[in-house]
Amino acid sequence: MLPAPLAVYRRLLEAYGAQGWWPVTPSGGRRPRYRPGGCGRLAERQRLEVCLGAILTQNTSWGNVEKALARLHEAGVRDLEGVLAQPARRLQGLIRPSGYFRQKAKKLKAFARHLAGCGGKVGPWLGGDLRQRREELLGLYGVGPETADSILLYAGGRPSFVVDAYTLRIGARLGWFRKASYHQAQSYLTRRLPEDAGLYNEFHALFVEHAKARCRKAAPLCQGCPLREVCRYGGAR
Ligand code: SF4
Repeated sequence: MLPAPLAVYRRLLEAYGAQGWWPVTPSGGRRPRYRPGGCGRLAERQRLEVCLGAILTQNTSWGNVEKALARLHEAGVRDLEGVLAQPARRLQGLIRPSGYFRQKAKKLKAFARHLAGCGGKVGPWLGGDLRQRREELLGLYGVGPETADSILLYAGGRPSFVVDAYTLRIGARLGWFRKASYHQAQSYLTRRLPEDAGLYNEFHALFVEHAKARCRKAAPLCQGCPLREVCRYGGAR
C-alpha cells in the first residue's frame, strides 16, 4: 500500500523539524533568514522580497539569490517603487549573482509593473480569488507554475502547493506517481491533504530538505531514512 502524504509529512517533520520557510530579511537585517517556529505574518516589504526571491531563484541556488537580495538592499531597493525606479542596466548589475540577470531583471520589472497596476501591495493583491491570482501570475513574463505557487504560498499565505524537481523525485520513489507533470503531482498531493497553507508551506520545505539530506538523485542514502519503511524504492534496495 502506498504511504499517505500526510503520514509522509509527519515523518519528515519529526526527522527534520520545522524549516521556517520562506527566508526573509528581518527588520534592520542585511540578508534573508529562515524563521523556524516564527512563521507569523510578514511585513509588506518582506512579502515583496519573497516575490522577488521566487523569481531570482529560478535556475540557481538559494545562496546566489541571497547575494542578489543583499545587493538590492544595500542599494536601497527595498520596495516596489525602488524596483520600478531602477534603470534596466543597473537592476541587471545588482542581481547579477543570481545568474540569467538580463532575463531576470525583465521578469522583476514585469512583475513590479503588474503589481503597481493592481494597487501596489502584495498582501491585499494576493488575498483575492486564488484561481484568478494564479492565472494572473502565470500570465506574467517569466512566471511558471513553481514561481506562481511559491509567490502565492510564501508571499501570500495562500494554499497553493509548490511542486519542484525534488517533489517529483521523492514522490516517484515513494510510488505516488511516475513521470508526473507539475499539475499531476500537485493534484495528487492536494487531493490527499487538507487545504492548509501552513501544511503546504512546511511540506514543500521538508521535501527540499529531505532531497538534499538523503534522497539525492544519485545514490540516495536509504539506510536510516525516515521514509524507508514506506518507500517502494528504498524498500527494494
Ligand atoms: S528510502 Fe531512499 S529513495 Fe526512499 S525516500 Fe528515503 S532516501 Fe529516498
